[in-house]
Amino acid sequence: MRFFLSKSKTSKKFDDYNKLRAKSDRGSFCHAPSKSLYIGQNGNVFPCCYNRKIVLGNIFKNSISEIRHGDKCLQLQKKLKENELDAGCIVCEQALNQRNFHQIKAHLYDNLPNQIEFPSILEFEIDNTCNCTCIMCTAYYSSSFLLQNKKEKLDNKFIFKQLEGFNEKLIDAKFNGGEPFLIDIYYDIWERIISTNPHCRISVQTNGTVLNDKVKNLMSRGNFHISVSIDALNKELFEKIRINAYFDKVIANFKYFRDYCLIKNTYIGISVCPMQTNIFEIPKLTHFAIENHAHISFQTVWFPPSLALWNMPLDKLEEAFLNLKKQNWEKYDTPLALNNIEAYNSILMQLESWINLRKTEIIPEYLSSQTFEEIIFKKIDSWCDNNFTNTQENNNKKNFYKDSVSNILNDFVSEESNSQIDYSSILRTPIDLIIAEIETNNNGSLKARFKTYLL
Ligand code: SF4
Ligand code: SF4
Repeated sequence: MRFFLSKSKTSKKFDDYNKLRAKSDRGSFCHAPSKSLYIGQNGNVFPCCYNRKIVLGNIFKNSISEIRHGDKCLQLQKKLKENELDAGCIVCEQALNQRNFHQIKAHLYDNLPNQIEFPSILEFEIDNTCNCTCIMCTAYYSSSFLLQNKKEKLDNKFIFKQLEGFNEKLIDAKFNGGEPFLIDIYYDIWERIISTNPHCRISVQTNGTVLNDKVKNLMSRGNFHISVSIDALNKELFEKIRINAYFDKVIANFKYFRDYCLIKNTYIGISVCPMQTNIFEIPKLTHFAIENHAHISFQTVWFPPSLALWNMPLDKLEEAFLNLKKQNWEKYDTPLALNNIEAYNSILMQLESWINLRKTEIIPEYLSSQTFEEIIFKKIDSWCDNNFTNTQENNNKKNFYKDSVSNILNDFVSEESNSQIDYSSILRTPIDLIIAEIETNNNGSLKARFKTYLL
C-alpha cells in the first residue's frame, strides 16, 4: 500500500486545486507560514494546527518577529511555494492526493492581506483545561483525563509582551483548547483584543458546554465567530462520545451562539468528528447545520484506530459509503447549503479513497514480530531518507524511531506472549502518523497509544 504520491511540482492535482483559488493566492500552495502562526502548549510555535512536525520557534525564547523571519519559517514558505508538502503537511497532502479539495486546510490561509512584518492570524492552543473526556481525545488536549497532566500555565505577562504591537494588526485570532471558555488567559487576551482591535475576528472552537454571564458579556462586546463540536444528534450517542457534555445543554447553547452570530453576521459552525460510531449521523448533522444556517466542517479522526474510519472493516466502509451516497440534497440551493453539501461530499470522497485502499492493500493479519519489525523499519528508513538530508541527523532519527518501536514491541510481545498479535492496524497507518506519535509522546504515553493500534 502506498500513501504518498509523487512530489511532482507541476502535477495536475495542484493545477486543479489552484483553479478553485483566487489568482492572487496561487503563488504558494499554502500561505500559513507567511500569514499565520500557531502557538501550541509549552509555547512551541507551528505553521498551523495540522503541521506539528515543524517547530518554528518557541515564544519563550524567540519573538514573534524572529519566528516569522527565522530559517525554518522561510524554508517552509519556500517548500510550499514549490508545492513540496513533505515537511509535515500530511493532512493537506492526503486531501490533495484524494482530490478532496474541500479538506485541504491550506485554503484557510487564502484571501489574507500581505502583511510583511506581522501575521494576519494568530492561533492559540496554549492550555488544555477542559471539562470533558471525549472518546477520541487524549490527555494532551484535555486536562480532565488526568488531573496531573494539567499543563503549567503560561506566564500571562510574557504572552502579552509578545503580543504587543501585534494585537492591533491581527485580522483573526483563533482559540482552541481544551475548552477555550474555561481557559483564564484567553479571557485576558480577548479583553486586550476587544480594547485595541475591536474588529478583529475572535474565532472560538468550543465544546458548547460553557455559556454563562461572563461569556455572554464578553461576546456582546467582541466580534466572536463560534464553532461548536456536535458529533451526533442522537442524545445517547452524543453523550457516549462527548463524555461529561450534556446533549440538551449543548444544543441550547448552540442555539444561543447561532442567534448571536446571525445577528452579528459572524461565522457559526458545527464541527464534527466522523468516526465508526457516528458515521450514520452525518446526513442528519448536515441537514441540521443547513436548517440552522450554520457551516459544517469535518475533522478527520486518525486516533484511536479502533474508532477511526480509515481503519473500519471494508464491508462496513462500503455500507457507510452507500448509505451516505443515498442522500438527496435537491431542496437546498443557498450558498451556505451548497458549501455544506460540498463538505458532506468530501466525506464521501474520503470513504471512497479508503475503500479503494482497502481493496488493494496486502496486509497479512498475523505476522511474527520480527517480520513486522522489518516492515516498519523499512518504512522508517524510507521516510527518514525523504526527510533528512543531513547524514548525521538522518542516522540519529532512524535509530531513535527504530529504538522506540522495538522497545514498545518487546514490552508488548512479552505481555501478550500467549496470543497472536494483529499488526494490521499499525501497518495500515501512514508512517507520518507513526513518526508523529513517537515525536509527540513520552515512553509511557507512547506505549499506551501503540497498544490501541495493536488490540
Ligand atoms: S499545507 Fe496544510 S499542513 Fe502544511 S502548513 Fe499549510 S495548512 Fe498546514
Ligand atoms: S472537548 Fe475537545 S479538548 Fe475536551 S475532551 Fe473533547 S475533544 Fe478533547
